[in-house]
Amino acid sequence: MTYVDLDYNLTDAQKAARDMARRFAMEELRPKGIALDKLADPADVADKGSELWDVIRTYRELGLHKRDMPEDLGGLGNTTDPLSSYLINEQLGYGDGGLAISLSVAGAPFRYAALSEDPEIRGWAEDYINDTSGEIIGCWPVIEPDHGTDWVLGAEEHMGDKKFAPQMRAVKDGDGYIINGQKAAWVSNGTIATHAAMHLSLDPEQGMHGTGICILPLDLPGISQGKPLNKHGQRALNQGELFFEDVFIPAKYMIMNLEMVHTMRAVSTGADSGAIAGPNTGMATTFAGVAWSALDEGIKYASERIQGGVPIREHQNIKLKLMRSFQAVEAARSLARRNYMYNANVQPGSSPHAVAAKALSTETAFNVASEMLQVHGGNGLTKEYCIEKILRDARASMIEDGTNEGLMLSVAQYL
Ligand SMILES: Cc1cc2nc3c(=O)[nH]c(=O)nc-3n(C[C@H](O)[C@H](O)[C@H](O)COP(=O)(O)OP(=O)(O)OC[C@H]3O[C@@H](n4cnc5c(N)ncnc54)[C@H](O)[C@@H]3O)c2cc1C
Repeated sequence: MTYVDLDYNLTDAQKAARDMARRFAMEELRPKGIALDKLADPADVADKGSELWDVIRTYRELGLHKRDMPEDLGGLGNTTDPLSSYLINEQLGYGDGGLAISLSVAGAPFRYAALSEDPEIRGWAEDYINDTSGEIIGCWPVIEPDHGTDWVLGAEEHMGDKKFAPQMRAVKDGDGYIINGQKAAWVSNGTIATHAAMHLSLDPEQGMHGTGICILPLDLPGISQGKPLNKHGQRALNQGELFFEDVFIPAKYMIMNLEMVHTMRAVSTGADSGAIAGPNTGMATTFAGVAWSALDEGIKYASERIQGGVPIREHQNIKLKLMRSFQAVEAARSLARRNYMYNANVQPGSSPHAVAAKALSTETAFNVASEMLQVHGGNGLTKEYCIEKILRDARASMIEDGTNEGLMLSVAQYL
């Protein structure tokens, strides 16, 4: 595009990381995301022969999944600086929002596993780091058929009432737990995952306050995965239910037990909750990239399309739409990056900033995609142009990882 990039002072390594990610985004994510989006049956997206698996393999061959994983397990540790990681993630969103989320969530259980001192659990993280074939995929099941926003608002005082108890329950049994219940069809990578980092109830009497987190492989007896979800946007992102029937896990898989949860609640101000700050920081970054891509599609089309004898970008109304959208995208990218850098460098992080950035990026992506579709005129409604897909992908993001309203309500008290 013709507008300048404000990044005048990146190091050569940061420029190289950004450019590598842009190539991957435009050569792999964008075309393959469009092809996957067009498949009528979401089972064809999950099929091992689909473009999804090419994308996963290339991402891993590039070593992008090794970021934030410890060096002693084969990860990149701190060798990728936070700004490079931000620039990479923004580019992945630029290529395809849904695929960027799939690639990121695929590492979720292994980021926890890498922190464990247990050799079996650490081994899962090592297997993930070494896997370039896409055989090992993670998911992060939280939401249930009857508890969506309840999880997002779970830290609120009244959510400790037993009527808010999650459906997925773990009951102590000898040296482990027996798990029963169901996770909603919204679990990203739900039908293709091999491992999960799962939130569940440990004491129903304490409602949402009696919950914990376990990590586990999904080939244990009693676990089944549902059908891929057919949906409006981010169709390249596989999603589906998980069912647990009398599944036994050893106690060591419960990486956040009740005692730990209560200790954390006692010392936490809530404003630093990792469960809110981490995922929302990722969402803010990815959808800043999606917003940026929508703007560039609009500028490109407005430069090519001739009406009234001139490229439409010369008409006043189009000029104003482009300039307003440019302003919104640059603002969203700025907050997304500022929040990312804080949450990557400072412990504990800041949930209000992460939520503000997530809501701003996703709403900017949606509003800019809508304006840029208008710039495309009738062509914007067709599958010939990707702006209608970007609009659908952005629409989903305002619900993804918690509705923007629910998230805002969950952190407003910390202002
Ligand atoms: C693309 C995508 C990817 C996702 N990936 C995952 C994933 O990997 N893992 C996972 O577990 N989930 C995932 N989700 C699920 C997502 O987190 C939920 O859809 C979201 O939290 C909302 O829950 P819900 O759909 O049950 O809506 P509901 O909770 O039923 O909410 C419906 C409406 O009511 C409002 N509302 C509900 N309760 C309240 C309240 N107490 N106060 C005020 N307003 C309220 C909400 O804001 C919303 O507008 C994903 C969703 C999407 C769209």
